[in-house]
Amino acid sequence: MIELSRLPAEGLRLDGQMAELRLERDDSVRDLQWALHVMPSGGDVFLDVRGKGLWEGTCSRCLEPFERPLQVNSQFLGSKDSELVARGAHTLGTQDLDVVFLPEPVLDAESMVREQFQLQVPMHPLCKEECEGLCPLCGKNWNKGRCQCRPDLQREPSALAKALSGLNLHLEP
Ligand SMILES: [Zn+2]
Ligand SMILES: [Zn+2]
Repeated sequence: MIELSRLPAEGLRLDGQMAELRLERDDSVRDLQWALHVMPSGGDVFLDVRGKGLWEGTCSRCLEPFERPLQVNSQFLGSKDSELVARGAHTLGTQDLDVVFLPEPVLDAESMVREQFQLQVPMHPLCKEECEGLCPLCGKNWNKGRCQCRPDLQREPSALAKALSGLNLHLEP
């Protein structure tokens, strides 16, 4: 734990390694290295978080597990001043920084690192840009070849749509 009120003027540098970091949705990051620089800035703290690792997740389209290098390189201002946080950004020197709410007097380096890696994880990860996904009918992974289904035919106007357009005709006076 880093005591934010006792930071030396030049700040505090920490680094570490983790064999595995668990993230949300059963994701994880392997062989993770991180470095953290925390520096006092007025009543606030300037934070510089960097790290890299191998992210292991699941393709949102074909549901296959895959991995990809993931990097964190993030600088922001931590503040317990909720007004400053509400304004969202703060200019420090020549840098426009996001402001993150840090109400606690202490900072847990590892949870800060986890948070920053979590933010880098894509919302809809794809194993590859042109991932073809799964057949909506039989569930076959189309990256591994086609199935016999013809789901494209399902997109033709359905029997219900045809019946409804027929219904409109009957409603005409
Ligand atoms: Zn995929
Ligand atoms: Zn199919």
